[in-house]
Amino acid sequence: MNIFVCLGKVAAGKGTRLEALKKKGVLNDRFVTISVGQVLRNAEKDNPELYEKIKESMEAGKLVSNKIVCELVFHKINSYQKMGKDVVLDGFPRNKKQAKALLENFKDDKIRMIVFNITDDEVIERTSHRLYCPVCGSTYTDNDLKPPKVEGVCDKCSGVLTRRDDDKQKVVEDRLLSYKKETKPAIDWLLKQPNVVSLFLPQPVTLADGTLKDPELEYFFNL
Ligand SMILES: [Zn+2]
Repeated sequence: MNIFVCLGKVAAGKGTRLEALKKKGVLNDRFVTISVGQVLRNAEKDNPELYEKIKESMEAGKLVSNKIVCELVFHKINSYQKMGKDVVLDGFPRNKKQAKALLENFKDDKIRMIVFNITDDEVIERTSHRLYCPVCGSTYTDNDLKPPKVEGVCDKCSGVLTRRDDDKQKVVEDRLLSYKKETKPAIDWLLKQPNVVSLFLPQPVTLADGTLKDPELEYFFNL
C-alpha cells in the first residue's frame, strides 16, 4: 500500500491544500488522512490506557514521547490498511526517530514524502495575519487574502474572530526552530532512503474564484 507523508513548517498550507484535493475528488475514498493531533486527542476513547500516559506528559508540559506517538499512529495505519486504504499522514514523522520507526514498521509499503515548501519569512507573514472563529473553526485573514465580510465577525456563524495562541510570534518562532532541529533532519534522512519517493512542492496558485491550482500535488496522489 502507499503511505503518503506530508511535512512542512507551520502555516505551509498542508491542511488547506489537502482539503482542496478532497473537494476536487482527487483525494477520494481510496485515501484516509491521519493527523497526529487528532490521533492524540482521540486516544482517550481509542486507547484509554495509553491516554493516561499521554495526559501525564501533557500535564507536565512535556512532549508526548516518540514511542507513544508511534504506537498510536502505527495502530491507526494498520487498521486502515486492513480496510484497503492508502494512508496520508499529516504532521508525522516529526523527527528522525519517528521516520526510522515508520520505515522499519512498514517495510513492504511505498513511502511517498511530500514537503510543502515555504520560507521562514512567508511563515511569519502568514501567521501574523491569520484569524479564526472559536465557535465554528472557520479561518480568515485580516488582509486581502481571505477577509471576513464584516471586520472581526465570522461569515458563517457571526462568532467574534480571534488569533490562535499558536500564531503568536514567539510560538511561531519556537516552532520554526524545532522544525529546523527535528523535522528537517528527518526529511534529509528520508531523502536518502531508496524506498522513499519525494516531492518538494512549490506554493499553489490561487485562482480568481478562490480555488487552488496545485497540479504537482494532484499528480503525486494519482501515481
Ligand atoms: Zn464561525
